[in-house]
Amino acid sequence: MIEFIEQHLAVFIDPSERVFFVHLLLALVAASAVCSYRESRFDLKSQLSSLLKKDYWFNRSTFVDYTLLIVNAGIKGLLVIPAVGTRFAGAFAFGKFLQMNVGDFMITGAPWLLIAIGFSLVLFTADDLSRFLLHRVMHKYDSLWRLHRVHHSATTLTPFTVFRTHPIESLLYFLRGFLVFSFVTGIALWLFRGQLTALEILGVEAIGFTFNMLFANLRHSHIYLTFGRLERWIISPAQHQLHHSKTHGHPNYGACFALWDQLIGSLRKSDPKHLRTPLEFGLTADESRHPIKESTSVQSYA
Ligand SMILES: [Zn+2]
Ligand SMILES: [Zn+2]
Repeated sequence: MIEFIEQHLAVFIDPSERVFFVHLLLALVAASAVCSYRESRFDLKSQLSSLLKKDYWFNRSTFVDYTLLIVNAGIKGLLVIPAVGTRFAGAFAFGKFLQMNVGDFMITGAPWLLIAIGFSLVLFTADDLSRFLLHRVMHKYDSLWRLHRVHHSATTLTPFTVFRTHPIESLLYFLRGFLVFSFVTGIALWLFRGQLTALEILGVEAIGFTFNMLFANLRHSHIYLTFGRLERWIISPAQHQLHHSKTHGHPNYGACFALWDQLIGSLRKSDPKHLRTPLEFGLTADESRHPIKESTSVQSYA
């Protein structure tokens, strides 16, 4: 029983998890800083006091988030990881496969800092692109949308809504992360054998860590944090909130980089009017009854 609880509470004490307690606290600090900055237009008191209300954290919508958090962590910890193995094992296996089947192809002489930065950027970009692609197909195909609408059925967005995914979608995201990490890291281990250490591989986690720490928790919140002109390049929390809106046709599939949405014309920047008129989250009556039909209201930002 203690093991079971430890396993589920581990998400709060694991720095690589989005809801690591330090990330949550920093998100609250960032939120209050943003609110103070906008005080003239934005009701700081009511925003922060709404965060402290019991009803915000405990209602029918958040109950589903917490239940799925436990179910998905249980499936992942008890079934998926024992069956598939860790990402590092996958990367070493793929590196070895390349060495045995393609042969030795080692790059030497490159400065380690360049290798580490290059590898970090490639892995982070590949991870972000694969998240975008999977999210895009979750909206495109009826059978996948039936799974993904569990996430979109949240009417209250809290940092825990990130765990509100159908167990099959959760499995698909796990496999996506596993494959991208194994593939990119496996190639890097093959190319730079002995020059790329676990420490450098962890450098990539540090990029994700910083992003998580600063903004990712606010994506699923009612704090409408916009990035202004930067929204052309980086998806802001407000842009992900537009993705959850009932009335905007779910634009902005991206997680971090906005480029992918720009390329397919699904990028939409935030509208300051929602600082005054809050967005309504959840599914439309039609979406909860029927499989999705592609919305036509998504506009290109370009
Ligand atoms: Zn979505
Ligand atoms: Zn979301």
